[in-house]
Amino acid sequence: MTQKPLKKLAAIFALITFASCSNSTETLTESTPETTSDSVVADLPVIAVTYSILGDLVSQLVGDNATVNVVIPDGQDPHEFQPSAKDIEIINNSALVISNGLEFEEGLKEVLENIADSGGNIFMVGDHITVRKIEDGDESEHAHGGSDPHIWLSPATMLEMLPALTTALSEATGANLSAEAKALTTELQSLDGEVESIISSLGECNLVSGHDEMGYFADRYGCKVIGAIIPSFTTTSEGTAGELAELKELVTKYKVPAIFTGLGVSPDTATQLAKELGIKAVTLSTHYLDGSANYQEFILKMTNQIAEALG
Ligand SMILES: [Zn+2]
Repeated sequence: MTQKPLKKLAAIFALITFASCSNSTETLTESTPETTSDSVVADLPVIAVTYSILGDLVSQLVGDNATVNVVIPDGQDPHEFQPSAKDIEIINNSALVISNGLEFEEGLKEVLENIADSGGNIFMVGDHITVRKIEDGDESEHAHGGSDPHIWLSPATMLEMLPALTTALSEATGANLSAEAKALTTELQSLDGEVESIISSLGECNLVSGHDEMGYFADRYGCKVIGAIIPSFTTTSEGTAGELAELKELVTKYKVPAIFTGLGVSPDTATQLAKELGIKAVTLSTHYLDGSANYQEFILKMTNQIAEALG
């Protein structure tokens, strides 16, 4: 039901974009990598990436061979972000658009679909990894059905996307990226090992999070997702009083020493919940770099925070 106004809004933005660029109808509708890079020979091809964490991985892979534009500013909730007319223009004029997919970027859905429908150059990471799917009623009483979009929280899942992403970027830039791909593969393999070592040093890794965001991380490193304050794959949802009561019971049953909170959950709610349960509430940055220099640092910071709170 909430999609309808968004669709209208996106259509209006698209019209504004078309109207405001006097000579750009052809460029916008036919922005293939060839026309973009050929028409502006001196400039590097522009790659648009929807969110900062993925943007950093793309930057590491493409090096100096392209300009990487991150659409959703670091610090904003990618689930909720609504693009401006300028954002849409940047996306439409890029040699390649890279998005998470799996309905992660809800506010960009229409814009991304338009590119795909018009034969534009778009790479959805979700098409190139093993997707974590939850059927209604499976695994946890708190899990709602659907595909989990939080793929970046497992470096092993990011490793899965690298070969296809390297090919897409090579095609869009005309550059041979095999050395960069090899270097990033080594980095991510090492990161995966490091996270595994940190988490395996914990006796138990029982996770309670803000929304249902820790699944890929938990599956890879042997943690158990006990529940979430918002039992949904998106922050645009809300939990019920009954679900919160169930969560409290589970926290007590599993003797969870801390709850992790962040996007979409008010600090007051998390603090109040932790107080009632007599445990810690730890703020965790899971959806943007939040000051980390790169993806590797972001993952290690988050992992160390989890280990410290649960250890
Ligand atoms: Zn999320």
